[in-house]
Amino acid sequence: MIDIPPPLRLLIDGPALAANWRALDRMSGTAAAGAAVKADGYGLGAVQVAERLAQAGCRDFFTATWAEAQALAPLGLIVSVLHGLRAEDVPAALAGFARPVLSTPTQVARWRDAGGGPCDVMVDTGMNRLGLAAADVAAGMLDGLTIETLMSHLACADEDSSMNPAQRTALHELRGRTGARRLSLANSAGIALGSDYAFDLTRPGLALYGGIARAELASVIAPVVTPQAQVLQRRRVPAGATVGYNATWTAPVDTEVAIVNLGYADGYLRGFSDRGVATAGDAMLPVIGRVSMDLVALNVAAAPDLAEGEWVSIAFDLPTAAAASGLSQYELLTGLGARYGRVWA
Ligand SMILES: *Cc1c(COP(=O)(O)O)cnc(C)c1O
Repeated sequence: MIDIPPPLRLLIDGPALAANWRALDRMSGTAAAGAAVKADGYGLGAVQVAERLAQAGCRDFFTATWAEAQALAPLGLIVSVLHGLRAEDVPAALAGFARPVLSTPTQVARWRDAGGGPCDVMVDTGMNRLGLAAADVAAGMLDGLTIETLMSHLACADEDSSMNPAQRTALHELRGRTGARRLSLANSAGIALGSDYAFDLTRPGLALYGGIARAELASVIAPVVTPQAQVLQRRRVPAGATVGYNATWTAPVDTEVAIVNLGYADGYLRGFSDRGVATAGDAMLPVIGRVSMDLVALNVAAAPDLAEGEWVSIAFDLPTAAAASGLSQYELLTGLGARYGRVWA
């Protein structure tokens, strides 16, 4: 195989990732902070993320699926699989590289029948997504199971909603009702709600990767990921000519334009058309026209020396990019595709 350096890459700041985890761990008070590494570590690379967070002191990792957990197996970490235990998952669950987060009566029965060992349990406290009914837990459905973590999930932690204290109270009422060693409720935004949401274990995801889930985190969380793309062509577009699909952008004056190797197939979705920004040194380079599948056009008037083969950085401050594109910070991260080289600092 010939080594082919990709024309687009993610610069990933490993020390910032570790610092974000440490900050969230401190904010979690006496609770331990774990890490959600589902969706390939929110697009950054789950194995590389988990290795670095384990080194920083993180002990509890969360994936959505068993395949995601299996990819982490060589690291020998403690992994919980949030999507529970389908019939198809039993062989993986018995292999011992992760434990299920049981969330339905059927899954509880399946785990008992399989002779499974320690598990986690999700209880629903109002989101009505995954989880056992709190009343079933209170009535003893879990009696006899060895439960490591009894957890629930906040529906509105990024808002000041009355659901937050209601969900906290609902989980608190189950304290001591099962043999669970720990209780867990807070995601990234939940950590910022205060120490009474932390219980024994927190489960941040977004904020580890530089997302600002609530304003309180803005001064605490550092950016982690910067996409970069290579200039494939530079051209002068004469006044009155158009750029890109459907000719949506017309040059008001003769304009210097660079075409870079990045597009909506790389998670740089069409919401960035005429709204995104790239940088080259101090120069700001606005996106002009439609984002294509694999290409973006930039106005490079501010970078007279930027030449074919050189690299630009994509402005990817998550709250700002989310506001510009209409995408959520979660979508921005998890949409980053497979074509990027991933370069860890
Ligand atoms: C994804 C997820 C998390 C992490 O949430 P963030 O908002 O990314 O911090 C925590 N718990 C559960 C159950 C999740 O599904």
